[in-house]
Amino acid sequence: MAWPSGKAGACKAPSPSSNLGATFFCMGNLFVVATPIGNLGDLSRRAEEVLRSVSYILCEDTRQSRKLLNAYAIENKLVSFHLFSEKKKEDGVIADLLGDQEVALISDSGTPLICDPGQRLVERCLREKISVVSVPGPCAVIAALSISGFEASRFQFLGFLPKRPGRHKKALQECLDYEGTSICYEAPPRLSKTLQVLASLDPHRELCVARELTKRYEEVVRGTAQELLTHFKTVKGEIVLLIQGEQ
Ligand code: SAM
Repeated sequence: MAWPSGKAGACKAPSPSSNLGATFFCMGNLFVVATPIGNLGDLSRRAEEVLRSVSYILCEDTRQSRKLLNAYAIENKLVSFHLFSEKKKEDGVIADLLGDQEVALISDSGTPLICDPGQRLVERCLREKISVVSVPGPCAVIAALSISGFEASRFQFLGFLPKRPGRHKKALQECLDYEGTSICYEAPPRLSKTLQVLASLDPHRELCVARELTKRYEEVVRGTAQELLTHFKTVKGEIVLLIQGEQ
């Protein structure tokens, strides 16, 4: 089996705390694999090879991930692994990795753990001295930042904004006070409320909404909160909101 990373399947020396003495032992790798955020052509060759070769693939929604595997004619086992089952399935996955199986973790789209399941599993692997290998690729926050025209070397990512009005407003004020670019994921029904709050806090600040990136109806619109409110009277799809840093 050829592994572009040169890591998978390699036997490792036991950790100093191991009681295996000088005997070398094998354990699998957990591959954290980024998948497309819309355009199925965005799966990397290395990601494809890893998904083909591992013992099984942990994913959020097996039906969603099956579409990706079918597009690449990858015949591998998908095991459901979402926020509600993460804790329950963790022990079994760790046992498999310790038993020398290779496992990949993907999410419905983009990079796992970025507002997606996997945090507990990665932390547990690191505690157990299991190697965690990144297979990088698409991520909506980075894709949006790279085309926003805003400062891209200094930024903060908030994930989804808090729902409670007080915390929501406070988070937005903190974004407006931040010197770099602030980025958050936003659900379509909440975009207009967020823009209204931003309009009241700073009517002149430049914002950017990146919608449906890499997909058919991709749209990137820049302007003040009021201009964006006028443009997005109704909005659908997946959205990243960017707030230019304080100038
Ligand atoms: N793990 C993913 C990543 O790496 O970007 C993010 C998963 S999070 C549950 C889903 C959110 O990401 C969406 O609600 C939207 O805010 C953003 N997102 C995902 N795909 C997108 C796309 N193609 N265009 C714009 N935003 C997207």
